[in-house]
Amino acid sequence: MMKCPECNTNMKKVEVKVHGAQSKVVSYQCENCDSFEFEPQSSLKVVQELRESPLKIKQKVIKLSQDRLGIYFNNNIIRSLNLKSGSDISVSVPDKRHIILELDEICN
Ligand SMILES: [Zn+2]
Repeated sequence: MMKCPECNTNMKKVEVKVHGAQSKVVSYQCENCDSFEFEPQSSLKVVQELRESPLKIKQKVIKLSQDRLGIYFNNNIIRSLNLKSGSDISVSVPDKRHIILELDEICN
């Protein structure tokens, strides 16, 4: 059993499904203080699976307000996904260098 580095409580093992990848990311979550860690081996596997993505675009992170940052979706992304403002997106973070966005529903 893994102990929380912050408060030494037992951590709960949680498998996180990442869209587009067969493998799951294993994370350990503390129920006491909300700290969590990813199991490096499993994150690496998922990231390798996702690396063969057909569309890769460089974007700058912009400042939206005091403590919020954002990125724009450019025209190519909007058109290929048929994105509309107000669409719901789930965000997952499999490791410290990746952010995965998943549309909650396909827009038509
Ligand atoms: Zn803790």
